[in-house]
Amino acid sequence: MTQAATSEFVPADLDCSVFDNIKPYYERLLARDINSPAELEQWLIDYGELEATVGEAHTLRYVAMTCQTDDPETAQAYRDFEEKVVPQIKPLAFSLNKKFVDCPHRRELDAERYTVLDRDTANEVELFREENVALETELSGLSQDYGTICGAMTVTVDGEELTMPQAGKLLEETDANLRERAWRVVAERRLQDAEKLRQIYDKMRPLRQRIARNAGFENFRDYAFRALRRFDYTPAMCEAFHAGVETHVVPLRRQILAERAQAMGTNSVRPWDLAVDPLGRAPLRPFEGAEELVEGAHQVFAKLDESLGELFAELRDGTSLDLESRKGKAPGGYQATRYRQRKPFIFMNAAGTARDVETMLHEAGHAFHTMLSRHDALNHYRNGYGSEIAEVASMTMELLTYDFMDPFYSEEENLRHRRKHLEGIVQVLCWIAQIDAFQHWIYTNPEHTTAERDRAWLELDERFSPGVDWSGLGDFRREYWQRQLHLFEVPFYYIEYGIAQLGALQLWGQYKEGANGALANYRRALSLGGSKPLPELFGAADLPFDFGPEVIGRCMATVKEELDSLPA
Ligand SMILES: [Zn+2]
Repeated sequence: MTQAATSEFVPADLDCSVFDNIKPYYERLLARDINSPAELEQWLIDYGELEATVGEAHTLRYVAMTCQTDDPETAQAYRDFEEKVVPQIKPLAFSLNKKFVDCPHRRELDAERYTVLDRDTANEVELFREENVALETELSGLSQDYGTICGAMTVTVDGEELTMPQAGKLLEETDANLRERAWRVVAERRLQDAEKLRQIYDKMRPLRQRIARNAGFENFRDYAFRALRRFDYTPAMCEAFHAGVETHVVPLRRQILAERAQAMGTNSVRPWDLAVDPLGRAPLRPFEGAEELVEGAHQVFAKLDESLGELFAELRDGTSLDLESRKGKAPGGYQATRYRQRKPFIFMNAAGTARDVETMLHEAGHAFHTMLSRHDALNHYRNGYGSEIAEVASMTMELLTYDFMDPFYSEEENLRHRRKHLEGIVQVLCWIAQIDAFQHWIYTNPEHTTAERDRAWLELDERFSPGVDWSGLGDFRREYWQRQLHLFEVPFYYIEYGIAQLGALQLWGQYKEGANGALANYRRALSLGGSKPLPELFGAADLPFDFGPEVIGRCMATVKEELDSLPA
């Protein structure tokens, strides 16, 4: 394992908001003579430090914007960075990558250590097209428009103005009438902007097709597989995942929904009946206020594993968490990495729900990944890993903490939490397959019409989301995909969650066999960061890199067994 080498190359306080401040460092790296493998290694470390410094500036602007979406200045600062700094960096980064690829000492580097970096950099060089930079900037602007339109949506329920996430919370209310009203008012509000969002999407698709063509690919799917560094799996393997979900997950989903209808005493489950407790119990309220959430999560991790507890303690340094929900904050939760400082940051909208606890455990898993891999001298290995493994880090924490939830739940409540969480996994695997299959269809049928796309979506909805009664709600059902921001903002990036969920379920299986072994596997895989190809990262956790029908079948057997042992 490489020691934490530091680089003095870029000052930590460099003001990256102005491109001219950053430019000299790129030029210095470009001009530097590299006369030995050792000099090439130092050059790579320095280049990584520059990327980390600029990347952290980018992250901090994103964080500021999401912490205060109603402040035009922070939004503008982010947009400026996206429009004025990022596009100017791309050609310079290309030149640096090319310098590496052309360097005679490249072949003398230790193959074991540099395989991934070498492969990724060569891939960047092969895919880069100067003419795509402007198209990518245009896409980033359209993404931001999508975010702005969705973020501005509010609804009024019973005289109270609510954000969409706030209205979504009403779907947990036991009053069926209130749930239906809340669901309909949200769906109608979305329908108002559906045409606008469709137009944005229809501007994005041909831009993506052009980017793919420019780079020498027949369609955007094939381009995206390369751009997302999917060296270790193929579209055919994704199709096998879809088939596996259809065979092993959809029937379990059907069964869960049928049991839900029975428990609720209804003939069919309507879209607003999916989040409520089927026995009419009030929603779980595991904590009050962010401090209680942090303290509770700290105790959970300390009980799960001493070393993870210590890592969690580091998050409580006063700069790494912004958890409390407030007006003007963007919805959702995420972990972002401050690359230069090698420190995580967690963003959330905690409002006291069970979902918030899950999010906290999940994002903490990402933070552990950041911290466990921060020793690596190369920025690319600290931060260059894909979500296929990153989400193993986070999703595993949701499962391994089952036995330690007493800071939040009574024993009985914890059984409720487990059932809800496992049912959520079944549901989300179906949704992942549906979204992924939809994108495969979209980008391999680039000339499709809106009507054809609607039909394709509804067919997939039948295939992967059966058992929900949509009668009389056809318009809403047709536009439902627009809620999935990945389709707009990060195309094709979604199956990663499915691959990772299966990894997490298998680690949970290991944990039930022997806690220490599973935890050691977890830490071993995470500490590799992105320094190995995916199959080796999975291998380090003693997991097969396989997301086909057989693995899915095994995972669903574990889930079903656990569900059968839990009270309704
Ligand atoms: Zn995540």
